[in-house]
Amino acid sequence: MNRVDPPSPWHQGWHVNARHVPSPNHGPRPADTLIDLAVVHSVSLPPGQYGGPEIEQLFTNQLDWHAHPYFEQIRGLEVSAHFLIRRDGELVQFVSVLDRAWHAGRSSWQGRDNCNDYSVGIELEGLEHHAFEPAQYDTLADLLADLSMHWPALHHVAGHEHVAPGRKQDPGGAFDWIGLQQRLAWPDMAFPDGVLRPA
Ligand SMILES: [Zn+2]
Repeated sequence: MNRVDPPSPWHQGWHVNARHVPSPNHGPRPADTLIDLAVVHSVSLPPGQYGGPEIEQLFTNQLDWHAHPYFEQIRGLEVSAHFLIRRDGELVQFVSVLDRAWHAGRSSWQGRDNCNDYSVGIELEGLEHHAFEPAQYDTLADLLADLSMHWPALHHVAGHEHVAPGRKQDPGGAFDWIGLQQRLAWPDMAFPDGVLRPA
């Protein structure tokens, strides 16, 4: 019997099952970068409101800064992530995994600065310290599995709060790291210290 591998879900760093919303906010990764980390974030615009177009507008520099008082606070921000997972589990992609997205800012992981250089940024539509949806964990786990299949070193995941401690708090204490580990069956060392055994 011939075993037929399923076709790769990746084409030039784009996931074929994601909705593609290309963002100009990206650049090249440093030469010979080993992509080995996924950074999980949470975002909602306006904060706590779900389902609107504002996140995708922000990541494509099309947000109307006058549309909401909160937007004045982030006026001019040029950011992106590779992926956004909406509340219903929909996967949106803004930047090829081969390129460097602008999500982590000043950051460090295991002694290496500038996580944007070597990580994949994944935003979950949500609010720090508020529960996320089961469909979001399902999509996140599927995405991480697909990433690690194609980029075998990418077998570590951390929150923005872990790579920018004191400066960032997302995804926050309501993020279910144990549930993510159960879905992925990745070893403890793939996750930040402490999150699998809450005090
Ligand atoms: Zn973040």
